[in-house]
This record gives sequence, structure tokens and C-alpha cells, in this order.
Amino acid sequence: MKTYNHHFFCTICGKEGIPVNRQEYRLREPGHLKKLYCLNCKREVNHAECIEGSKYDQAIFRLEFESGNFDSGGIRITPLEQWIKSLNSNEVPDELELTVEEWLEFFDKK
Ligand SMILES: [Zn+2]
Repeated sequence: MKTYNHHFFCTICGKEGIPVNRQEYRLREPGHLKKLYCLNCKREVNHAECIEGSKYDQAIFRLEFESGNFDSGGIRITPLEQWIKSLNSNEVPDELELTVEEWLEFFDKK
């Protein structure tokens, strides 16, 4: 099985969170939010899961974070799929214009 390089980024401050032990954590959909302790915020806040090589990597998190799609509680304002669609297509590489189903297919390839 392929090992995915995944990172969690705090939706409040945007900094990278503490790595999650893979054995304790099942792979979820790209962009999944998970409550983790943030060293910077010094409390448990939502972190977005970024997986390099998936459709939700660090660059997309950065774009979503900077567009203000997380509220002060770290909750996603617009659902990820809609947020992607709402982006100006000029800003989004063609490869990102995928449905959630297509994203999930990515993870079926073991
Ligand atoms: Zn933080």
C-alpha cells in the first residue's frame, strides 16, 4: 500500500499541526477537518488534513485559509466542494476541478 505524506494545518492560525500517528488515524477524505492540539494557538482547534499528491494539498489549504473560508471557530464556512467551485476558474488549475467522488477515487488506489 502506498504511504501518503499527510499533514494537518490549523484552521485558526494556518500553521502546521502536530503529526498524527497513522495507526491511530484512518485516512479520510482530502480536506477533512480534525480537532487537534495546536502548539501556536495553545488549544484544541480544527486542523485541515492535507495530503501531498492528493487534490487537497498544502497549496489548496493555503488558498482556502487565505480566502477566509474558516470562521473564528475553525469551522469551514462554505463546504469544500462548493468552495472549490466558487473559485474563479482562472485561479484554479484544471486538475482541481474534480468532484468529491473523483477525489475519493484517488484513495481507492492502494
Ligand atoms: Zn493554530
